[in-house]
Amino acid sequence: MKNTKTTSKVTKSDKEGMVTPAAGAAAELRDLFIDSLKDIYWAENALVSALPKMAQNATSALLASAIKEHIEVTKNQVLRLDAVFELLGEQAAGKKCEAMAGLLKEGDSILEETVAGPVRDAGIIAASQKIEHYEIATYGTLCSFAKALGENDAAQLLTQTLAEEKEADMILSDTACSSINLVAAQNTLNEDFVK
Ligand code: FE
Ligand code: FE
Ligand code: FE
Ligand code: ZN
Repeated sequence: MKNTKTTSKVTKSDKEGMVTPAAGAAAELRDLFIDSLKDIYWAENALVSALPKMAQNATSALLASAIKEHIEVTKNQVLRLDAVFELLGEQAAGKKCEAMAGLLKEGDSILEETVAGPVRDAGIIAASQKIEHYEIATYGTLCSFAKALGENDAAQLLTQTLAEEKEADMILSDTACSSINLVAAQNTLNEDFVK
């Protein structure tokens, strides 16, 4: 007899390189959706704490006010996430977002590694845009998950935040292009830097 091999099904976790899920791992998209909401909830709260230091270290009045404005927007985004958890009948809770923790750590290093003025400001914009891009990716995914799950009210709230993150990114780009990077490159100051 030729074929003596067992006919038991090869499960996905038997495949080479497949990670064994941890206890309590998400088995349904809804679980992954809730986990992802907890991740960004942690991240937004971390930003509320971290952004004031960024604003304090900006020399450009334009950049400082853009960051301060985004702190207020971010506080409201936390409230919006509270509303999303409520819509889903889930307790609002954060779970450490390693990516945001890393981006904030990198932001701190940029402050230490730059001299205050246009060069530090260019670094603050760079760090802030990395943060905004992470948030844009996250909220894009969350909107898509919410729609796939038929959670249309949640999707609508998440779409509002996504639009705010895109706008914050655009404002940072405008601020960088309109003056700060040029000033940093020329190492001369314009009126925006005179206090
Ligand atoms: Fe945000
Ligand atoms: Fe994350
Ligand atoms: Fe943001
Ligand atoms: Zn934001």
